[in-house]
Amino acid sequence: MERLHCFPQPFPDELLYSLAVRYHRLSANHSYRRTSQDLFGVYSRTCGSILPCCLGTLSKELAWAYSANELINNFTLFPLYEPFLSEAKRSAARIAMAGDSGTGLKMSLGLTASGFLKHASFRYCESCVTEDSRNCGSAYWHRIHQAMGSCVCPHHGKALRAITFPNGADWRCMLLPGEAVGSQIMETPAASAVDIVSEMQFWALNHPTDVQRLLAGNFLGHRLEEMGFLKSGRIREQALRAFLTSTLLLNPLANEFQEICHSCDWVFTVLRHRERVIQPLKFYFLCWLLKTDLEQLRAFDAQAHTCNKEARKGDDPGATFDHAEVQARRAAFSSSLSMKCHEKPGYMWLYRHDRGWLAEYVSAHPFTRTRPELVDWDARDLALVRELLIARDQILSTQEKPQKITRAALGRKVARSREFLKTPNKFPISTFLMKDMLESDHDYQIRKINWAVRRYLLPEQSSVSVVYRCAGIRVPHVTVEEVLHILSHV
Ligand SMILES: [Zn+2]
Repeated sequence: MERLHCFPQPFPDELLYSLAVRYHRLSANHSYRRTSQDLFGVYSRTCGSILPCCLGTLSKELAWAYSANELINNFTLFPLYEPFLSEAKRSAARIAMAGDSGTGLKMSLGLTASGFLKHASFRYCESCVTEDSRNCGSAYWHRIHQAMGSCVCPHHGKALRAITFPNGADWRCMLLPGEAVGSQIMETPAASAVDIVSEMQFWALNHPTDVQRLLAGNFLGHRLEEMGFLKSGRIREQALRAFLTSTLLLNPLANEFQEICHSCDWVFTVLRHRERVIQPLKFYFLCWLLKTDLEQLRAFDAQAHTCNKEARKGDDPGATFDHAEVQARRAAFSSSLSMKCHEKPGYMWLYRHDRGWLAEYVSAHPFTRTRPELVDWDARDLALVRELLIARDQILSTQEKPQKITRAALGRKVARSREFLKTPNKFPISTFLMKDMLESDHDYQIRKINWAVRRYLLPEQSSVSVVYRCAGIRVPHVTVEEVLHILSHV
């Protein structure tokens, strides 16, 4: 130790403020001002923050026993936020925390806008206080208890308590948990949301790179797909909204959860990446809303980095997958023949991790919509056959002046004539039959002469021209012999 004469050995998951309080006690300083000067070289206003600054100086004061980044990783809540930040924001935030001024840090991480800060308090768990006093010799402030949305201790499942610093003072009076009055921040938790979110955040705080993989692997997208809230890669907003609203109504929650329980609009800004920085609480609460627990987060992660270099593909060159898994996903995708590409199982996974194969498969297997045959054309054809036969009989049996059996004449007497005339190929038997039924000019005139002879009682010696006139024939298609034959036989 070059600069500081002493510094406490950190306890598991200890907050930087807690270390500062214990240093304050060890060095028997009378005021925070002196302690701050020792630790940070300046009067730091952020020592009690979940995202403190001046950590570069502290690292120096500690003779680089911890680098500034190690201080950030181990004693602040930054690892909870980091996976949700772009590379640029991430390094800007680290630079701010290592530097002397943290101005604008909470704003740039979206904390100020989130509305969560007004619920913030110094929180502790009574069971942890008892255990830490016994095991470590002192109670201390746990990082996870201070995270937004931590209302329950992830170790004991008990509702956390918030300390009230005495005489209207703030954290600068340098107290540890249990040293001032504390009040329980919520009723005994009835909803599982607070428990599960607390567990998830504790895991996330200690596994930021795993969370990054979850985000890179579009965990929420997969979950929506599994739950049937995606169609053609798009969110079925109405269905999801109905589902979320009923879940939110059934789970009235306190504290910072109030900020995200009155509406589910925020879910869509999270899912569509419209929020500049996603608040960890929103992400994990949404995981809970989508019926996910910590084991599923872990399992997704385990699945995502099973190492096998055989399947290193797609737009995610860092990810490697088990050959059998890739084959299984390809098989599941390619066996769903009747579905559109985006609706097939595992589309999103393959798009992300196996895009080359996916593109090849899709171009080789263009989707052709197979519409279910709604009309029984065979039955229609047979029905039309019957109608045509009846129509022909009606035309032939009339006592009136004969009408020629034409396509139009038959069509007028059947129900589906329009359909039949437009799509004759759908009525093959009817089409064949109709061709056979159509009457030639000769046959029609024979029929007309027969009718006229009977109708006008024409005698056998009638002249052919009279017969033609009575039958309404101008251009004869019959022979004189045929006319005489009819006259002689009636
Ligand atoms: Zn506890």
